[in-house]
Parts: sequence; structure tokens; C-alpha cells
Amino acid sequence: MTHYIDPLIITISESTLNHIALVWIAIAVILFPVLLKTTPAYGRYTKTSWGPMINNKLSWFFMEVPSFAIILWFFWNTTNYENKIVIIAFLLWIIHYFNRAFIFPVRLRTKSKKMPITIMLSGVFFNMINAGLNGYWLAFMAPGSSGDLLDSPRFIIGITIFIAGFAINQFHDTILIHLRRFNTGYKVPVGGLFKHVSCPNYLGEIIQWFGFAIICWNLPALSFAIWTFVNLVPRALSHHKWYNEKFEHYPKDRKAIFPFIL
Ligand code: NDP
Repeated sequence: MTHYIDPLIITISESTLNHIALVWIAIAVILFPVLLKTTPAYGRYTKTSWGPMINNKLSWFFMEVPSFAIILWFFWNTTNYENKIVIIAFLLWIIHYFNRAFIFPVRLRTKSKKMPITIMLSGVFFNMINAGLNGYWLAFMAPGSSGDLLDSPRFIIGITIFIAGFAINQFHDTILIHLRRFNTGYKVPVGGLFKHVSCPNYLGEIIQWFGFAIICWNLPALSFAIWTFVNLVPRALSHHKWYNEKFEHYPKDRKAIFPFIL
């Protein structure tokens, strides 16, 4: 099935979009073992050997703003206003990325910190693909009406999981940001799910995007959830190892990311 769209974008079929999403998932699966061995050099692992550097806050802005802008563009161009689930999915994405692009970088207390430009560019690429695939599907491929899906268990479960994940992510990101209140170095985080895991903010982010995939029930949303898992589980394992090496009395029963499991 081919859809007519604004001349600014290439018209592609649903099957092509699904194939692109499947390739994108395959790349994530292939990269997972690589990421388990290589820790991207930002945050506590920043290294100048990864090439020229850019201010950390600016880098977060440049990485996240494409996702916000691309989804907004699709939202503007869709004619699918009858499908309430599509509208809700657009709004969830817009809220998340408004925070990530415009609020999160301002809140960070990493004034003099830098990030390699290569990391920033890979983040830009990653966000463009995810927003492109998801925006295209929501704007032009979702069914014309949500019917009675708004009352369906799938939607209710999906949105509940999304909101829970978002809250977990925000709450624990806030704890971490506050640890730098006096511009000091790293500390052992406490409170909330830090009792059980080293990276509850990552856990929340993963839960959130699996919730989104349940709401949307399509391959682009699933691919983004898988990518989030593939990015954040290895990073959580690295953080966990780093905490254990740096702090002698780091709580021994704390797991890396999934309480009582990993
Ligand atoms: P981190 O948890 O590594 O860091 C978050 C902030 O808290 C940083 O400013 C960090 O400083 C600071 N911080 C972390 N731990 C401590 C500590 N023990 N003491 C003092 N300060 C600390 O998260 P990321 O920067 O990797 O990610 C930020 C957000 O982006 C998260 O919500 C994450 O879920 C999301 N994200 C999503 C991805 C996806 O694929 N969807 C991929 C990557 C991130 P510093 O930077 O100096 O270490």
C-alpha cells in the first residue's frame, strides 16, 4: 500500500518501513555484544582519544533536538487526527523529547565537562532514525481510527507502563543531578530504586519505551525499545562495575539495572 504524503518526504510502503525497522533491530542485536565490551566515552568515561570535544550540555541539546523536531514535523503533517492513540503517542514522544532536549541539559551540573563530537554525532544519527521511523508510521501508516482501542487492555497496560517508566527515569535522574549540587565529584546514589540497582534511571527509560511499543504495537516502536535496551544495559553494567571499583563500601546486594536479577 502506498500513501500520498507531502512532497518533502519520500513515499514508502508499509512493508518497506517494516523492513527498515527489522534491519534496524538486527543492527541493534549485532551491536549488543560489542557494546558489552566497549563503553561509549561520555560522562564518567569521557576520553579525549575519541576525537574533538564539545561542551556536554550543548552536546545533549544537539543530540536530542532532532528527535523532538522530526516528530513535531510529522505531527504537523499528519492528517490522522481521528486516531486518538496516534495523537497520544505523538504527545508522549514530544513531552519526553522536550524534556531531554530543552530541560535536561539545563539541569545538568556538568558545566566544564565535555563530550566527544563522535558520540554526539552518533546520538544525532540514532535519534533521527528512531524519530523518522516512528514519526512516519504514526503520521502516515497508523489505522485511520483508534476505534474502541482507547478502552482496550493493551492501551491501558501500555500507557501505564510508559508513565511508570517515565516517572522512574525522571525521579532517579533528578537524584543523580542533585548529587552534584555543590559541584563536587561522584557519590554513591541513595533513595528510591537505588536501594536495589545502580542505574534505576536507565531501568525507567527501558520500561518507558517498551510501554510505548505496547501502545503503538508496531515495528518502529519495538525497534526503539530494543535499541534503548541495547544501549542502556551494557552501560548500566559498566556503571555498576565502576561504582564497585571506586567505592569500597558500595552496597553488595545492589544489582546493575534489574532488581534481584542483573
Ligand atoms: P548517567 O546516569 O550516567 O548520568 C546522569 C547525570 O547524573 C549526569 O550528569 C552524570 O554526570 C550525573 N551522575 C551520574 N551518576 C552520578 C554520581 N554517582 N554522582 C554524581 N553525579 C552523577 O546517565 P546518562 O548521562 O548516560 O543518560 C542521561 C539520560 O539519558 C538518562 O535518563 C538515560 O536513560 C537517557 N539515555 C537514553 C538512551 C536511549 O537509548 N534511549 C541512551 C543514553 C541515555 P556525568 O555526566 O559527569 O557522569
